[in-house]
Amino acid sequence: LPVLAVVGRPNVGKSTLVNRVLGQRQAVVQDMPGVTRDRVRYPAEWAGRDFILLDTGGWEIGVDGLDEAVSRQAEASVDDADAIVFVVDAVVGATDTDMQVARMLQRCGKPVIVAANKVDSASQLPDVASLWSLGLGEPFPVSALHGRGSGDLLDRCLKILPERGSVSVPTGPQPGRVALVGRPNVGKSSLLNALLGEERVVVDAVAGTTRDPVDETVMIGQTPWRFVDTAGIRRKMHKSRGADFYASLRTSRAIEEADIAMVLLDASQPLSEQDQRIVSQAVEAGRGIVIVNNKWDLVDEDRQDELAREYERELAHVGWARRINISAKTTWHTNRIERALNETLDGWRTRIPTGRLNAFLGQLMAANPHPVRGGKQPRILFGTQVHACPPRFVLFTTGFLDPGYRRFIERRLREEYGFVGTPIQIGVRVRE
Ligand code: GDP
Repeated sequence: LPVLAVVGRPNVGKSTLVNRVLGQRQAVVQDMPGVTRDRVRYPAEWAGRDFILLDTGGWEIGVDGLDEAVSRQAEASVDDADAIVFVVDAVVGATDTDMQVARMLQRCGKPVIVAANKVDSASQLPDVASLWSLGLGEPFPVSALHGRGSGDLLDRCLKILPERGSVSVPTGPQPGRVALVGRPNVGKSSLLNALLGEERVVVDAVAGTTRDPVDETVMIGQTPWRFVDTAGIRRKMHKSRGADFYASLRTSRAIEEADIAMVLLDASQPLSEQDQRIVSQAVEAGRGIVIVNNKWDLVDEDRQDELAREYERELAHVGWARRINISAKTTWHTNRIERALNETLDGWRTRIPTGRLNAFLGQLMAANPHPVRGGKQPRILFGTQVHACPPRFVLFTTGFLDPGYRRFIERRLREEYGFVGTPIQIGVRVRE
């Protein structure tokens, strides 16, 4: 049977929730000896499906303190589980211990649901929203005491629980995924070959439906990167009929599959509409972006000036992206790609803890309050980063924010935290 583990600090309402789930079957529960002294497996059933509920309650705090005890406990349960419910007290918010457990859960590679417990009324929903900061997806409000939401929570759990108990497969950190994109003839295959040739390491290649490798792992410096859909680059579609259509289809698909779009431009040619479309596509898909000007060996001083003007005119909206000049043909400066990719992946993955974000927003508003509009001055009550990859923020406010003020917030966020190479999304929720 699949195993659903319930983890969380003491007093978050874990056992109340467990009892809710087990309902009348609780009587049976008492007869089931736990596999260990401090962890108990209960046979459970919901919506006609049987599973094992693994409760981590009943442990004692050792000499090494609360944090370690909770983390160790959670870690042990996670090893045995197929999915995890992480119970957090929405009233208290995410504590340091919660954050520590959350980080472990992020790494474990198993499905996790955050149950925001003790949500007894709708006025607490901003508290729930703040739990996005755990980085485990949407927090699920429940009131274990009143039983509200626990049925929905269980429905959700069953969805993520595999049919049969699965053997746990340890997953290490995955290499960053790169889509090497650009219009035909900018030098994509030349660059791919240069990178492969330079390092002389193709770690492995995943076979696709054709005999070309679809994705290839390329060592750049010390870091492996997964280049997605390299078959599309190698196959040279632009030399056949209907090429434009297939090339743009390939571009969209590669961007969808990647973390970072490495947009290759032919620096010897004027920036084209197609170049711009590819950049916009990557921004809209929320990917990290690195702009690579290829064929620099053909660029003279006049062209350099022109290029600078083109950038200012056409690519100002991605001013945050790293830009590097290379020559795939001579491999000049291709060694700069490593750093640009690393910085971009870091920026794309950045998470700002909620406490720090709100301190920052407080200072920002004190120094630069929103302009008064129609006698009113919107204030930000609370902000939280609901997503990374790319970073997405939600601000709870007393009124709509001017687009200019949003841009100002974005600019200040970038000054403060970097966010190299990544789009930032800012959502606003007006509270009545
Ligand atoms: P793709 O269609 O984007 O894969 O482009 P290719 O890699 O096939 O390159 C198109 C043409 O540009 C080929 O003739 C390459 O030799 C040439 N090329 C690629 N990179 C460079 C470069 O850095 N400098 C110069 N001068 N030519 C290049």
